Amino acid sequence: MARIPKIGFVSLGCPKALVDSERILTTLRAEGYEVVPTYEAADVVVVNTCGFIDAAVDESLDAIGEALEHNGKVIVTGCLGARPERILERHPHVLKVTGPHAYEEVVGAVHEHLPPAHDPFMDLVPPQGVRLTPRHYAYLKIAEGCNNKCSFCIIPDMRGRLVSRPIDEVLREAERLVNAGVKELLVISQDTSAYGVDLKYRKGQWRGTARETRLIDLARGLGELGAWVRMHYVYPYPHVDEVIPLMQERRILPYLDIPFQHGSQSVLKRMKRPAHAVDTLDRIHAWRRECPDLTLRSTFIVGFPGETEAEFEELLQWLTEAQLDRVGCFKYSPVQGAAANALADPVPPGVQEERHARFMEHARVISAQRLKRRVGQTIKVLVDGHEGRTALARSEADAPEIDGIVRISSGASLRPGDFAQVKVTGADAYDLQAKLVSPPGTGLASAED
Ligand code: SF4
Repeated sequence: MARIPKIGFVSLGCPKALVDSERILTTLRAEGYEVVPTYEAADVVVVNTCGFIDAAVDESLDAIGEALEHNGKVIVTGCLGARPERILERHPHVLKVTGPHAYEEVVGAVHEHLPPAHDPFMDLVPPQGVRLTPRHYAYLKIAEGCNNKCSFCIIPDMRGRLVSRPIDEVLREAERLVNAGVKELLVISQDTSAYGVDLKYRKGQWRGTARETRLIDLARGLGELGAWVRMHYVYPYPHVDEVIPLMQERRILPYLDIPFQHGSQSVLKRMKRPAHAVDTLDRIHAWRRECPDLTLRSTFIVGFPGETEAEFEELLQWLTEAQLDRVGCFKYSPVQGAAANALADPVPPGVQEERHARFMEHARVISAQRLKRRVGQTIKVLVDGHEGRTALARSEADAPEIDGIVRISSGASLRPGDFAQVKVTGADAYDLQAKLVSPPGTGLASAED
């Protein structure tokens, strides 16, 4: 029997990069490559890099260096690969550099340096592909690239303009994942609200019905699968209103991850954010009237060039009114090649630091107040794992990795991927404590059960 070729894989960056990694690995596994966990065991190492901010660039360059040191045969892909000169100037001996979502090129480079062994017994791959996330949740990438021009971001330069995946292809992939045991689908792209614009909302057939490649049809289709469906990277365009009733009916989770980035219209304008002129507070209030359980998560940037104390105060005031459930906050840092680098009046690091701390404290108080309201409620959770006898789970309001957790005392009988009903017994600023009220069920989500 031919020797099995072995691949090492380092995946850095955001969930979108993770999906790229999964696609590459799925292809390689299907071709009979084995994925191994150490540099030493690998014949070739693929490093999927991130180039979003300078800290991520450094981390990627270090990871390439480590792979070269311990293995020597390294193929680089991902966002940083869109700027090969940055890689080659520090690591001239990498075998190949490709940009993001260059699946075929990466696989081609692997073939060149480590040909596949053709063995029908090794050419098997699970129907859902190979995933790096736990078995019970999966990211579903619906599009690549972005048509916006936010001044702090170079993703459109690196990943190109929006390219949506046709709706039938996305829904078929989602169906395969659910059939393979996935309980939660996390919909991602750079701009989920723009889904289908590039395809002029082209129709596709799925389950005997014509569906348009657009957000509402995607939400309806995914809602038929019986899994939790969570929407990320949505912008507050008017047509997002259409999906709120599906959330209220629990066809999809009442959860929206919207990167608002700021609450001051003048800063948003300088950031060149999509929908910067929209009155987002009005929209949020209308959504909550229609779907009171809606969880809103967002990220913000403080210390953007020219941000005045008044504009920062406006942001805090906006946050008070918006009552967001979950927020993340970054201090602005220049990214090589971004238009915002040319803006006047950079905010000194000390002021950035101070605003970041004030923002986080403000958000912490809001989060704690909102979570306190959950105490005494019975909620449905999805179990992720354990810490001793305590089960660690998530509610409808918690995306994996980035939001809070629900700690279930005496939850040792629960298994990852179980749904369970729990009664909330306590809350802190970000997490909930709960006790089990119903035996674990692996049945899929509906709001009432
Ligand atoms: S929406 Fe803005 S921040 Fe997001 S990827 Fe597009 S250009 Fe970058």
